[in-house]
Amino acid sequence: MLISIIVPLYNEETNISILHEKVSNVFLNLSHQFEIIFINDGSTDQSLNVLKSLSERDEHVKYISFSNNFGKESAMYCGLEHCNGDAVIIMDSDLQHPPEIIPKMIQLHEDGYNQVVALRNRQNESFIKKIPAKVFYKLSRYMIDVKLKSGEGDFRLISKEVVNSILKMTEYNRFSKGIFEWVGFSKTTITFEHQERNDGHSKFSIFKLIDYAIDGIISFNNKPLRLCFYFGGITMFVCLLYIFITFINILLHGIAEPGYFTIISAILFLGGLQLFSLGVIGEYIGRIYYETKDRPKYIIEQTNLKAHK
Ligand code: UDP
Ligand code: MG
Repeated sequence: MLISIIVPLYNEETNISILHEKVSNVFLNLSHQFEIIFINDGSTDQSLNVLKSLSERDEHVKYISFSNNFGKESAMYCGLEHCNGDAVIIMDSDLQHPPEIIPKMIQLHEDGYNQVVALRNRQNESFIKKIPAKVFYKLSRYMIDVKLKSGEGDFRLISKEVVNSILKMTEYNRFSKGIFEWVGFSKTTITFEHQERNDGHSKFSIFKLIDYAIDGIISFNNKPLRLCFYFGGITMFVCLLYIFITFINILLHGIAEPGYFTIISAILFLGGLQLFSLGVIGEYIGRIYYETKDRPKYIIEQTNLKAHK
């Protein structure tokens, strides 16, 4: 059985060799064939050179280098398109995903599971990360059709069948957490201790993470649009009621003193509601715009793979 390890990376020159060594060591004790496919997502440091020299020394190392930074989602998709394994493991390049649990993942796969998800233990995380994550997962339960679980990331083993199903989902705006869940298949989890990043810094700032959360909610259904519809409807109803009551009041008692407060609150509230709804609609239109362009998800500049699609 051939296992493909897919590693998306962006400016990780100091981490690549250590990861390579650790993964290779793991496979020393296994009878499985393996390949490591590094996807260089337009790094501006020496990552590509490190990959090149690694691949000259070790035939297990494949690399695909993008012409620009197309994002981790595109890099993962590219890896899935180009891997040959009977099972595929996706992991980060910064050693936050410990290679030591790979044998256990393979074992579970051989027991018959098509997806083996490495569940990150969030217990020791700081509140700054824990609370927004909690809010997001709670919210996502109501907002989207697939059930996302806290601690489940991209670190997982998936069988060839799962890979083929994922490759059929060709959308440009990708949200892998949702996609993995959406395709389904028999699934099990194992927990791992999330490690400190080996070197360098996270590429996902708080703003990028918020963007990612919005992507997640919007790319999995149109409930936010539906919500706008309800919000708008309820507000309209309340406003009509208010107008009706005020009108009756005027008929009965004549015009009282002008109500600055009510007018200004109605204007502000309605204005806010409309802007919010427009924003939600805009999010969807933006996505339609990107999807209709049908641009490639990535462009390959260099690779040591013989033939690439
Ligand atoms: N990554 C990538 N392209 C990007 C950003 C990140 O391929 O545009 C890679 C990165 O090199 C790492 C993985 O995605 O291997 C996870 O990124 P990071 O460690 O920065 O995120 P965090 O662990 O903080 O969520
Ligand atoms: Mg990381």
